[in-house]
Amino acid sequence: MSATINENYLLLQNSYLFAEIARRVDEFQGENPDKDIIRMGIGDVTKPLSPSVIKAFKDAVDEMADPDKFRGYGPEQGYSFLAEAIIKNDFEPLNISLDIDEVFISDGAKCDTGNIQEIFDLDNIVAVTDPVYPVYVDTNVMAGRTGHALDNGKYDGLVYLPCTEENGFIPSLPETPVDLIYLCFPNNPTGTTLTTSQLAEFVKYAKENHSIILFDAAYEKFITEDDVPHSIYEIEGAKEVAIEFRSFSKTAGFTGTRCAYTIVPKELKVHDSEGKLQSLNNLWNRRQTTKFNGVSYPIQKAAEATYSSSGKAEINENIEYYLENAKAIRDSLVKIGLNVYGGINSPYIWIKTPNDMKSWDFFDLLLNKANIVGTPGAGFGPSGEGYLRLTAFNTLENTKEAMDRISKLSF
Ligand code: PLP
Repeated sequence: MSATINENYLLLQNSYLFAEIARRVDEFQGENPDKDIIRMGIGDVTKPLSPSVIKAFKDAVDEMADPDKFRGYGPEQGYSFLAEAIIKNDFEPLNISLDIDEVFISDGAKCDTGNIQEIFDLDNIVAVTDPVYPVYVDTNVMAGRTGHALDNGKYDGLVYLPCTEENGFIPSLPETPVDLIYLCFPNNPTGTTLTTSQLAEFVKYAKENHSIILFDAAYEKFITEDDVPHSIYEIEGAKEVAIEFRSFSKTAGFTGTRCAYTIVPKELKVHDSEGKLQSLNNLWNRRQTTKFNGVSYPIQKAAEATYSSSGKAEINENIEYYLENAKAIRDSLVKIGLNVYGGINSPYIWIKTPNDMKSWDFFDLLLNKANIVGTPGAGFGPSGEGYLRLTAFNTLENTKEAMDRISKLSF
């Protein structure tokens, strides 16, 4: 006997995207040490935690030093003070009522969107939009829900819903039956959104086909337009078919601090093999209480502070700053005749490459001629070929400088 591995891991395609970007940037910088490179590739925030958040964070750390206030293990699902603040601020204004035990606080939407597939059988057919946040795909590959990667970059057994210029980045409903559908709106990487009625089509599909929607709303706070749903539960009946993921990462600069939450409504029920209805809320609760020991108290206090009146104002100011960068990017690129998408309800701007260039060729051109780093769209899936993503998470000065440089290029 000897140990064996989970061979599904061997099916994973090399995640070379950010490594390859770093390699090309390092090589360029090595050959051109005097060039000032502006990085607009990685989707990480740059603004620090806001003063109200920091104060709550520090106060909570002080409590941990006080024998009368110290806290050990907290509830795996999160403290009720934060779950209550979430319901009151993120859902009640949308007329969505939730019970406290439908909110599961965690250390990231990456973990939650990656782990959620564990509560579903391996036989479920999974649909993802293409291009896509890679976590949804890779975690299903690891679990064994797919076959091999094909030459076209898709995994055998996964259903891809292309989002391209041709369909206005609105995925069609699956043509063959699927059980789980990952949707992310506002979208990473395209920065585009669905209207309420477009999202309602997916809810209707899920009801009719007994499928479950895994709705990632990590960029919800960037929504500026009216007809864009902030939560999938704004759609009638969605509580029976959808799990929603949210995060403080992009909302409040928690990428390095780690706090997020997932809503699993009690209405969500799926038949087991004996035909009995099983609650997904119970299964996720069981999963979390077994494998997760909660987010630290100071971090949950810091997250709670994002809902104070000063916290809200500070966070809005940061989001507005990023959105102003996004607007500067959009306006400059439109002016030079490029087709650009996103950046209105999102920190991401999705550029159609000029003259049908390949994503990596456009990446090289921007790096070599303008010293700007973007992310080649092909790295997010086959339908991302021919696109490049820029992010609005830089300073306004750098963003403007980058746009000046691009405007001087001729394509
Ligand atoms: N979901 C999407 C669509 C993302 O783009 C990201 C981060 O880039 C995450 C989730 C990860 O969020 P978190 O920092 O909460 O793990």
